[in-house]
Parts: sequence; C-alpha cells; structure tokens
Amino acid sequence: MTIVDYLLHFLWPVQCPLCGRPASTVCSGCLDILLRNSRSRCFSCHGEYPCPLHVGPPLLAGASHLDKARELLMLLKYENSRSIGLSLGEALGRAFPVPESDFLVPLPLHRNSSRGYNQALLIARGLSRIWALPVLDGLSWSASWPNQTGRSAAERRQLPREAFFWRGPPISEKRTVIVDDVSTTGTTLSRAARALEKAGASVAAFVVWTVAEVKKR
Ligand SMILES: [Zn+2]
Ligand SMILES: [Zn+2]
Repeated sequence: MTIVDYLLHFLWPVQCPLCGRPASTVCSGCLDILLRNSRSRCFSCHGEYPCPLHVGPPLLAGASHLDKARELLMLLKYENSRSIGLSLGEALGRAFPVPESDFLVPLPLHRNSSRGYNQALLIARGLSRIWALPVLDGLSWSASWPNQTGRSAAERRQLPREAFFWRGPPISEKRTVIVDDVSTTGTTLSRAARALEKAGASVAAFVVWTVAEVKKR
C-alpha cells in the first residue's frame, strides 16, 4: 500500500471488498492472487493455446468464473462499483502481454439493461491504461435480443449470427481485441467478432475477466 492509499483512506474511508485493507477499490494484492492462473486459452475448447484442434485468436481469460473472481464481477455489475471495472482491466493488462493490435473493442451494454454504465467498457479502459491501446466503443446490438444473462447454454448459442453491427469509424484492415466481463459459451464474443470482420477488421484476441467452464465441442 502506498502513502496515497493511506491518505485516501483517511479522507474517504473505503476498503478492498475482498480483504478489507484500506484501498480505494479492490487491492492489487487480491487481484494478483485471483489472476495467478490466468493464461491464454483456445477460444473454442478453452484448452491450451495454440490448440492442436482449433484455429483462431486466443481467449485471454483472467480467472474461472468462481468464488472471489465472480464476486467482483457481481459487485461491478450490480452494486455500482465502477472503479472495480478499471482495476480488473488494469490487472488483466498486467497479466498478459499486449496483443499485436490497433485498438480495444468492448462488448456493448445490452439494450434492455437498466445499468447506467457498461462494465465491459470499464474493463477495456483499464486495459487501455496498461496496454496503451485506444478503446473504440463502436459495436451495437442489431435488435432487441433477449438478455443473455440467466440463459442456458443452448439458448445462448441461438443468438442470431448478425446480433451486432459496427457503427464506429472505418476499421478496414485494423486488428482488434474484443473485451467482455465474462465468457460462457463464447457465442456473444464470436458474434461480435463476426461484426468486426464484416467491417473489414481482424480479431487478434478476446479478453475476459472470467471464463465459465462450459463443455464445448
Ligand atoms: Zn484486497
Ligand atoms: Zn481448442
């Protein structure tokens, strides 16, 4: 902890939601512990990357969607703890080398969401601080598809292929990194990749804070 943390705590007594130490948000010690098993995975089967069976960009996953890693996402999404999003992104940025890419693209907030902020955008901004890649927030949902949260794996895979479209500046020939908070079946991320590829860009990597272990083929 730095002297600045102590002063902040004195002026505005807040603490790490995981360990209770004085901190302005979740502390780097807790984040480093959570990310100790972070690794590049095969996007298709979640196995080692590069994968002997599948091609495509890697899934850079911070942690499994369990325990404290999951709790932090719940705080970020449902308790209005926006600063956590930046911290998660910064921790991911420290855990992985910068992909060869031109910018970061967060998944957009679902149109039906009542949340006043996009957690994927906050994570992307945290990543941007460490990786020095700009964030382009140009993906949109194409229509009012039912929210993926709480859906079964089979229902998630029914997300239409054209679920997203690119409404940002021209990205032809650009390399992108797609950012989201959690990946379950990977369907949402692959639909986002499709929209970027239709706009002429390529996907260098996917980054998520957590990955839910769903059996895939
Ligand atoms: Zn802590
Ligand atoms: Zn694989």
